[in-house]
Amino acid sequence: MKDEIDKAMGPNTQLVHHDYTAPAGFSAFPVAIHHASTVLFDNLKAMRARSWLEKTSYTYGLHGTPTSFTLEARLADIEGGNHCLLAPSGLSAITLIDLALLQSGDDVLIPDNVYHPNRELANWLKTSFGISARFYDPMIGAGIRDLIAPNTRLIWTEAPGSVSMEVPDIPGICMAAHEKGVLVALDNTWSGGIAFPAFEHGVDISMQALTKYQSGGSDVLMGAVITRDAALHAKLQTAHMRLGLGVGMDDVYMVLRNLPTLKLRFDAHDRSARQVAKWLSGRPEISKVLHPALEDCPGHDIWKRDFSGAGGLFSVLFHPQYTEEQTDYFVESLKLFKIGFSWGGAHSLCVPYRIDKMRDQWRDTGILVRFNIGLEDAEDLIKDIEHALDGMRAYGMK
Ligand SMILES: *Cc1c(COP(=O)(O)O)cnc(C)c1O
Repeated sequence: MKDEIDKAMGPNTQLVHHDYTAPAGFSAFPVAIHHASTVLFDNLKAMRARSWLEKTSYTYGLHGTPTSFTLEARLADIEGGNHCLLAPSGLSAITLIDLALLQSGDDVLIPDNVYHPNRELANWLKTSFGISARFYDPMIGAGIRDLIAPNTRLIWTEAPGSVSMEVPDIPGICMAAHEKGVLVALDNTWSGGIAFPAFEHGVDISMQALTKYQSGGSDVLMGAVITRDAALHAKLQTAHMRLGLGVGMDDVYMVLRNLPTLKLRFDAHDRSARQVAKWLSGRPEISKVLHPALEDCPGHDIWKRDFSGAGGLFSVLFHPQYTEEQTDYFVESLKLFKIGFSWGGAHSLCVPYRIDKMRDQWRDTGILVRFNIGLEDAEDLIKDIEHALDGMRAYGMK
């Protein structure tokens, strides 16, 4: 019967409308990639009965398909949360949290060593939206209680700061914040959500740049906002809708595909990074190795108390006698370490920072160089660094 109808219609209509449905019962490991802007309803009653707020059904592509619902559920599970929202980047996840929870007249406290775009956003909220943003010493711990004002609504934390590597006392900050009814958000990207149990340590909102370990391929940008509290999630979900934060399902699939190896990769990065960091701590050019698992690192004891792993990201401080020109020469002499931002992928990366210009407390220190240890053999990475350090010293003597 259908065939007869089809024959009566024009070729374009026949191309658009077809009634083939693949047989049910297909089963395989990968989650299907469900692309959609329009979601179909069987009838108007079904359309009116559905709510975009509930993840028990589908309303519109922006609010998710089975593919994104699956990633959200799995990410919430990994961190021991109950709810998760996906955002198109880690930075948009940060923006979502600020815009959901802050309004003009409110105050937000941000660690002085925070991921720089978070600081940039805070300054914008301050100059253009009437929100007061203040920066605190990340090592303040429970002492943050003295900074909490009656209009403070949110305290940002990052553990550790992803350039200076200082490890903050998150339980201490959370305790002081909760005494005064203030929410704590954590940028938990460094731990991949698997080496620091954010909610057990009192955090209200855990934010992830999935761009890093969860994606693992240096090819996807995505962020996640994870919570336990339903009312808090509802607030974030409303802002998520208002901002129109959607993610592409092919990208979601790429993250889902790499999720089973998250811990294997994280642990491999961790092993190599500790090996390289320990080797660097014996080099005369380096004044401090800022790796949370090494004693030189501010907050090392806190790391030992609160974390179960370390991943691949750490920094070193060169002795101040080495000029920026020399340390630039070092970075550019590396062969296996490429120059570029981000981390969590298979390739090792390296970036220098003028930490003396970024933080008042670090004014008299030398150049900071941050390493992302990839999945190469640690011995080869060490040889590469050794060669570049020797070259740098020779360069300095010319
Ligand atoms: C990369 C990163 C972000 C932002 O993630 P994008 O996906 O690149 O926007 C946020 N916080 C930290 C600590 C990061 O390293």
